[in-house]
Amino acid sequence: MKQHIVIAGSGFAGLWAALSAARAVSLAGKTDSIDITVVSPEPALHIRPRFYEQSLENMAPDLSAVFEAVGVRHLPGWVKEIDSGGRRVQVKQRDGHSTTLNYDRFVLATGSNVFRPPLPGLAEFAFDVDSLESAHALDAHLNRLPSHAASKARNTVVVIGGGFTGLEAATELPARLRNVLGADAAVRVVLIERGAKVGPDMSDESLAKVHEALDFCGVEVLTGTGVTAIGADGVTLSDGSKIEASTVVWTAGVRAQALAASLGETTDNFGRVVADPMLHAPGTPGVFVAGDTVRAATDDVGNVAAMSCQHALSLGRVAGHNAAAELVGLPLHAYSQPKYVMCLDLGAWGAIYAEGWDRQLRFESEQGKAIKREINTVWIYPPVPDRDAIFAVANPDYVIVP
Ligand SMILES: Cc1cc2nc3c(=O)[nH]c(=O)nc-3n(C[C@H](O)[C@H](O)[C@H](O)COP(=O)(O)OP(=O)(O)OC[C@H]3O[C@@H](n4cnc5c(N)ncnc54)[C@H](O)[C@@H]3O)c2cc1C
Repeated sequence: MKQHIVIAGSGFAGLWAALSAARAVSLAGKTDSIDITVVSPEPALHIRPRFYEQSLENMAPDLSAVFEAVGVRHLPGWVKEIDSGGRRVQVKQRDGHSTTLNYDRFVLATGSNVFRPPLPGLAEFAFDVDSLESAHALDAHLNRLPSHAASKARNTVVVIGGGFTGLEAATELPARLRNVLGADAAVRVVLIERGAKVGPDMSDESLAKVHEALDFCGVEVLTGTGVTAIGADGVTLSDGSKIEASTVVWTAGVRAQALAASLGETTDNFGRVVADPMLHAPGTPGVFVAGDTVRAATDDVGNVAAMSCQHALSLGRVAGHNAAAELVGLPLHAYSQPKYVMCLDLGAWGAIYAEGWDRQLRFESEQGKAIKREINTVWIYPPVPDRDAIFAVANPDYVIVP
C-alpha cells in the first residue's frame, strides 16, 4: 500500500515542505510508493509580507503548475482536527464536503494570525494587514474616504503597534492617504507603541534610521502609550486623551494558528510548538511543525527562528525533507539557520537592510529599498514550474540568505 505525507498549509513553509519532500522521495526512487498531499484553502501562496502595500496586485500567485511539476496533489480545504493517535486528519473541503486523510507523516504549516485581545472596539472598528482579505478591506475603506465629509478624523490613520509590521504600514500610509485624498490634503498618521521604543531589538544606528524615515514620511510616534478603546471615530489612549481617526490599523502581535495548540505539545508565548532539531513535534509521533507554528533554535548560541518568511522558507524545506526521509530511509537533516538579516520597508524614505540579531545597519534609503524590492518581488515568490529547477533549490541545507 502507498504511504502518504500530508502537509497542512501552502504558505512559505508548506510550499517548501511539499517541494522538499517531493525531492527526497524522488532521490530515493520512491515516487510510485509515496503520495504527497497539500491541504490549504486554495493552491496559492499568499504573499503576506506585502499586505501593507498600496497595490495588492499579484499577492496570491497560483501554485497548481508548481505542484503538478513535482507530482504533489493539492486538496482545497482546511484541516479541522488532527487525530495523532489514529494518524489521520479531518478536512473540511472547499466544496463543503468533509473528508478524512490518513497519513504516515504530517507537516503542520498553517502559519499564524494577527492576535486580537479583548480590547473594546478592536473587533468592530480596527483594520489589519494580516491576510489578503483584511488588506483588501483596508484598501476599500481608504478608497471610500473621499466620500466622507471632510474632517480631521477622515484624514487621520492610527496604527497600533510599533513592531516591523506597524512600521511598514505606518510609513506607507501617508502616501496612500494622499493618493486617495489629494496631493495637498492635510493627512495625519500616528503610530502608537505601548513599549518604550519602536522596532524592538535594533542597533542604535538602525533605530536612528527608522526615526529618520518616520520623520521624513511625516509619521507621528507615540511610545509608552497604550490604547484603551477603539471607536468609529478614533481611539482612546491610556492617559485618557483621544485621537480622532476614521481609520485604525491593528498590528500588535501574532499567534500561531490554533491547530498548533491542539497537539498538546509545549508551546511558547506565540503559541508555537517547541520542536526538536529535526522539527518533530516531540510528543506526537509522525508529526512535524514548520514556519510560524514552530519554535526552533536557529543556532547553538540561543537564537530562535522569528515568525518570518526568511525562517519559514528554510523550516519548510527541513520539515518536508525529514518527513519524507523517515519513510524512504534517507538521513534526516537538523534545522540550522545561523545567519539572520532584516529588511524593513520605510515608505517614501526607502528601507533599511540590517544583519545579525542586533540588526546592524548595512544598507539604507534607496539602496535598502532596492534590496526590499528584490526580496518582495523575486526571492519569496514561488519557483518556476520546472521539476529539475525546483529540486535544485528544494534541499534542506539550501541557504536562504548567503
Ligand atoms: C504585513 C506583514 C508583513 C510581514 N513582513 C515580513 C518581512 O518583511 N519579512 C519576513 O520574513 N516576514 C514577514 N512577515 C511574516 C511572514 O509573512 C510570516 O512569517 C510567513 O508568512 C510565515 O509563513 P508560514 O508558511 O508559516 O505561514 P503563512 O504564510 O501564514 O501560510 C499559512 C498557510 O496555511 C494555510 N492554512 C491556515 N489554516 C489552515 C488549515 N486549518 N488547514 C489548511 N491550511 C491552513 C493558509 O491558507 C496558508 O496557506 C510579515 C507578515 C505580515 C502579515
